[in-house]
Amino acid sequence: MARYRGSVCRMCRREGLKLFFKGDRCYTEKCAFERRGYAPGEHGHSRKKFSDYGTQLREKQKLKRMFGLLEKQFRGYFEKADQKKGITGTTLLVFLESRLDNMVYRIGFATSRTEARQFVRHGHFKVNGRKVNIPSFLIKKGDVIELREKSKKVLPILESLETVARRGVPSWLELDKENYRGVVKALPTRDDITMPIQEQLVVELYSK
Ligand code: SF4
Repeated sequence: MARYRGSVCRMCRREGLKLFFKGDRCYTEKCAFERRGYAPGEHGHSRKKFSDYGTQLREKQKLKRMFGLLEKQFRGYFEKADQKKGITGTTLLVFLESRLDNMVYRIGFATSRTEARQFVRHGHFKVNGRKVNIPSFLIKKGDVIELREKSKKVLPILESLETVARRGVPSWLELDKENYRGVVKALPTRDDITMPIQEQLVVELYSK
């Protein structure tokens, strides 16, 4: 399946939720969801009632889009989560949060996951002292993510660090702004994950 190339703001309006694809713009009154918080298209104003399947599908799409993943990649995380002990839905969320691109965004080096993915691909970061340019690289508790010396002049990264207070850094991460590094104090628990997701619906969809 091809990557979606349309307006990303439409995805927020479709899912009825701010997905923060556009960095700092998402926090201003220019946000399309703030201005038109209804679904896009001719029938966007009419409230749709979904079947059980439709509700599960929307929840899966929402989570997948939030992390910018294609179906195959997303399904792969589900299958890995399903093989692990514990609650599959929670394990799935922790896997997604553990991706390097997400960590770079959460720590504050980027204003969106899309931007974070690009920064990682361009090789701006080290994990535990070694350069890593794979966005899906899984981070563990205790890992240190830091900006490479030559990347300390990259303006969008510096600007992102300037506005990190507005987005906030989760309690399970620690940002050392002076030294351009972040420490993963712990992987998140379900209570730490505050995004409005009903992951159980995703599990139900894939378990059919
Ligand atoms: Fe979504 Fe950001 Fe666009 Fe608002 S500005 S609709 S949060 S991508």
